[in-house]
Amino acid sequence: MTEHKLPALPYPYDALEPYIDAQTMEIHHSKHHQAYVNNLNSVIEKYPQFGDEPAGNLLKHLKTIPEEIREAVRNNAGGHFNHRFFWQIMKPQGGGTPVGHLKEAIDKTFGNFSEFQSLFTKTAIGRFGSGWAWLSLTQLIGLEVHSTPNQDCPLSDNKTPILCLDVWEHAYYLKYQNRRPEYVQNWWQVVNWEKAEENYALALAAIKPGQ
Ligand code: MN
Repeated sequence: MTEHKLPALPYPYDALEPYIDAQTMEIHHSKHHQAYVNNLNSVIEKYPQFGDEPAGNLLKHLKTIPEEIREAVRNNAGGHFNHRFFWQIMKPQGGGTPVGHLKEAIDKTFGNFSEFQSLFTKTAIGRFGSGWAWLSLTQLIGLEVHSTPNQDCPLSDNKTPILCLDVWEHAYYLKYQNRRPEYVQNWWQVVNWEKAEENYALALAAIKPGQ
């Protein structure tokens, strides 16, 4: 049985300054994300059949998880997967505009980048309470901007994530207090579009018919 582990950040805690402050990043990664990892490990400890399943697989097949631990897996595998995904789609000196095939798909689906950006921003700001904003790919709809409550993951709804933004207060409160809109606006400066393009290619492969 393999323990889930907190992944190292792909950059130092202060790398996303001034848009996301070092103290927030350190607490968010070393305390919040770590807690989801620890909780997930203790939840599945007595269920060795799930011991080697990556968090993403647990989330894709939530309905097959025994009812007595399903909610805890949903929250903690979700917390682990979502944060790992989030760290990857940011980078220092990020921002700008989408690239490659993702750029083409965004233009085709939403009109242009600016329209997409407005919709995503509105969705992130409008998420009531704690949760996430996402750009995901679905087999039926194609690209979709949506949000999830708590630590719910698009994978549990047959959606493959490409880009995400954490809008829990713990993600911004130290620097922005109640100013979520300012946090969301600034976050665009640290988006890693090359990683999003990679995620899009993986998402396309994942929804290919017959797989
Ligand atoms: Mn978070």
